[in-house]
Amino acid sequence: MKVLKFGGTSVGSVKNMSNVKDIITDGSKKVVVLSAMSGTTNQLVAIAKYIENNESNKAIDKINVLHEIYFNTIDELLKESLLNSEVKNYVSSVFEFLIESTDKDYTEALKNRILAQGELLSTFMFNSYLKQEGISSTLLPALSFMRIDEFKEPDSDYIEAHFKSAIDLAEDSEIYITQGFICLDSNDEISNLQRGGSDYTATLIGAAFKADEVQIWTDIDGMHNNDPRYVENTRAISNLSFEEAAELAYFGAKILHPQTVTPVRKDSIPVRLKNTMKPDAHGTLISNSTLGDGIKAIAAKDNITAIKIKSARMLQAHGFLKKVFEIFATNETSIDMITTSEVAVSLTIDDDKNLDKILAELDKFAMIEVDKNQSIVCLVGHSVVNHQGTYKLFKILQDVKIRMISYGGSNNNISLLIDSKDKINTLQKLNSYLFELVTL
Ligand code: ADP
Ligand code: ASP
Ligand code: MG
Repeated sequence: MKVLKFGGTSVGSVKNMSNVKDIITDGSKKVVVLSAMSGTTNQLVAIAKYIENNESNKAIDKINVLHEIYFNTIDELLKESLLNSEVKNYVSSVFEFLIESTDKDYTEALKNRILAQGELLSTFMFNSYLKQEGISSTLLPALSFMRIDEFKEPDSDYIEAHFKSAIDLAEDSEIYITQGFICLDSNDEISNLQRGGSDYTATLIGAAFKADEVQIWTDIDGMHNNDPRYVENTRAISNLSFEEAAELAYFGAKILHPQTVTPVRKDSIPVRLKNTMKPDAHGTLISNSTLGDGIKAIAAKDNITAIKIKSARMLQAHGFLKKVFEIFATNETSIDMITTSEVAVSLTIDDDKNLDKILAELDKFAMIEVDKNQSIVCLVGHSVVNHQGTYKLFKILQDVKIRMISYGGSNNNISLLIDSKDKINTLQKLNSYLFELVTL
């Protein structure tokens, strides 16, 4: 059995939902994971923000606009009157909950309950649409099996056991529909796998029952060799290894949630990226095989903070780095890049919620410089270090100021730290030097 995940655009209009229906009805049993309709989660985030800021009138206006959009979509999607009113009843109960929320005290738990509604709406609507089309499908509530632990990590034993019993208890059917993104936390409160988390739901489910394959269906024909939002003439990459895909996802390729490949890697369950609007395009196959050497793709991750820690006696003082790393570890902050010299160590973090505490501790024994608004540009491939084409990367040194460079840490990745304002220019320059036939 396979797991197929469809993203926001894929379920974002009646036309696209009909494409999804065609893709999933090939006669084989499958689990279908759906995101919220495109734009919905952003709207729910905005509604929660208004509630947090005590601007309930603005929240109510937004809720009413969204309610109307959903009713219009239902009228277009569900011509069968019983199903139409059943779905409208459900949708109205969701919007009632949202309206009631505008009167409540804002908490993180309330925000998470609000954010969860997008996937609950899309799956309910789509399951009813399949029923209308005479397709055998069952809704599996993600909250009955998807769970994170007290460290916010997926609880894979729980997920495996509860997913299996959810399937066993469900009515036998061709298609099992479930919600991406949402889960319970260790206190049984509704939570989520962070933005873009439906991809992660799909691979967690795939790992739970050792699926034959996980497919991520989106609005582009696979992983491109550069960020198509900023660079023209990017191309889809037909094959990537798990390592290469993990680096690209972690370092900002938005097509995949950063942790997407983690659950399926150990069992070598292939992940296929496909375009809902062009199902015949090859897409990208992520598997154990590595095809070709050299740099294959570039991605960029924003909101990076760089910290330079200077001490006159850094290297002579053994245990200096240990002391530094311990401060980050006790403050639950992971480090992405690191470079060292005789007197200083520079490193980067992307989660700065404990930055003040970290700086206060570092300040006791070192001089510190902090630069915010940095981006990591990551060049990913196989055997990238020493590959004959890699030298071309240094051509950009004349155009872009590089703050840090990490070369040789792994054979899959070369990372550059730059000011975020130089990101688009850097991505474009790298594209022309590395992937286009530019004479040097
Ligand atoms: P979905 O809603 O289906 O999950 P996302 O918006 O999360 O879709 O991801 C798909 C988008 O990721 C594409 O439309 C594209 O703009 C963006 N993207 C960024 N980097 C890449 C890349 N390297 N390859 C493909 N798409 C990318
Ligand atoms: N709907 C969620 C989001 O927009 C999850 C997802 O689409 O993967 O972040
Ligand atoms: Mg996504």
